[in-house]
Amino acid sequence: MKINENYKNLEESYLFSTIAKKVDEYTKAHPEAKVIKMGIGDVTLPICQKAADAFAKAAMEQGKAATFHGYGPEQGYDFLRVAVQKYYASFQVEVAAEDIFISDGAKSDVGNILDLFDADNTVLIPDPVYPVYMDTNVMAGRKIVFMDANVENGFLPMPPKGQKADIIYLCSPNNPTGSVYTKAQLREWVDYALANNAVIIFDAAYEAFITEADLPRSIYLVEGAKKCAIEICSLSKTAGFTGTRCGYTIVPDELIQKDSKGSDVKIADLWNRRQGSKFNGVSYPVQRAAEAVFTPEGQKQTKATIAYYQENARIIAKTCDELGIKYTGGINSPYIWLKSPNGMGSWEFFDYLLNEIQVVGTPGAGFGANGDGWFRLTAFSTHELTAEAMERFKTLFKK
Ligand code: PLP
Repeated sequence: MKINENYKNLEESYLFSTIAKKVDEYTKAHPEAKVIKMGIGDVTLPICQKAADAFAKAAMEQGKAATFHGYGPEQGYDFLRVAVQKYYASFQVEVAAEDIFISDGAKSDVGNILDLFDADNTVLIPDPVYPVYMDTNVMAGRKIVFMDANVENGFLPMPPKGQKADIIYLCSPNNPTGSVYTKAQLREWVDYALANNAVIIFDAAYEAFITEADLPRSIYLVEGAKKCAIEICSLSKTAGFTGTRCGYTIVPDELIQKDSKGSDVKIADLWNRRQGSKFNGVSYPVQRAAEAVFTPEGQKQTKATIAYYQENARIIAKTCDELGIKYTGGINSPYIWLKSPNGMGSWEFFDYLLNEIQVVGTPGAGFGANGDGWFRLTAFSTHELTAEAMERFKTLFKK
């Protein structure tokens, strides 16, 4: 037996456990302190009523012989695939229902999709970004080339000149920076991918947070993208499904690559085969709950929840403006990515905020080397706690 030695190359992910440990130690030493957590990217508001009702109804159906559902289609029920298709149509993107694969969330599919690609591929990953892209490729022993995301490029790296790539990760709106690619920028990426026979893995987990109408919520708004891009999305942040688990991955029928003999291979066929062998679908009640999210009432309720978080983001951004703290994000994403004041490193700033004003955020260094000196605050708290945290910022930075 030989283990997968690539796992030894993974960096220990200490980020959230280190944060939890530091907060725990602080709370033990200061039991009276009111710590405000604005670190972890989990939502706080429940799934919308429409989805909760559909979830409960479907759960009851499972308890009666006449309405019981056993194994469902691995790709997801048609009712949900069609609902997602209509959702895309609402922002002028046409996708075939057969190209939509229902998943138990974006994280699984971000990792699982790599089953389709040889280990001998060069992967482009932005730095900083959601750490799962790097880890899943390290596990497979792939060569990773990092792309600098920084102030100069608005945290939106563009195709590197003279660098060939096979697999490209784009996350827009971005976790952690909140930056969003414009359509023109995505056009450049699609052209680059087509020229290099590369596949773009486009993570749109935060698309529902886009407020500026001209920013693309899907890479498929760019012509030709269906020939080179897989889009991965999730109901986690859109509709509070972090604990309910449902997402969808779009693998267009038009996405074709060559095998080693030069024959055409449809990537969707490989994915279909992969899912058929390794996945037994998302539970029926969860898919009914997800379907309800896409009804007009579900959309109304879900949008109200997102608006609630957006108001928190606005409060954070306004405070940063007042205090002269540099930041990005917040307008089209639930994250505010701010520059640690006075040249502090991310962890130094983390300790400073915890000790001085008992506010917890996420050190940017946890998302990649370029994140050092930066800090992520999330809008997923309550209005009251967000406002209080910002008052504490004011007392600290106005000194
Ligand atoms: N993609 C990005 C960019 C994320 O930030 C997250 C979660 O934080 C995910 C995917 C995972 O989403 P899910 O809960 O659907 O697995």
